[in-house]
Amino acid sequence: MPVLGIADLVFRPLHLGIKMKIGLEVFAETFNKFTDQIVRLGEERDRHLWIIERCPVCWQRNTQGPCCHLAVGLLQESLSWVSNGRSFRVEEVECIAAGDASCHISIYKNPLS
Ligand SMILES: [Zn+2]
Repeated sequence: MPVLGIADLVFRPLHLGIKMKIGLEVFAETFNKFTDQIVRLGEERDRHLWIIERCPVCWQRNTQGPCCHLAVGLLQESLSWVSNGRSFRVEEVECIAAGDASCHISIYKNPLS
């Protein structure tokens, strides 16, 4: 369970890195609980990993490359909201529709603006 509610996260003056980490945990938990999407989180030095194991965005699609723009856009919007308008580089690097085991989205920790 997240320690903070999403409203606390938006309005409290927490460090950006903390907001991002807790925000992603809350979003992942929400998706797992209320939608068909199954998400797992990971972390590397410079990025968070948003790994979608069952992805409704590209369900039964077959593409040459990553195609889950909806998921990427949703993450960008959500992170902008919790961080009071910062923007982050978010990119899908692997996608089930393109033959990968999961839809794998990298979220870079350093904001673009
Ligand atoms: Zn996908």
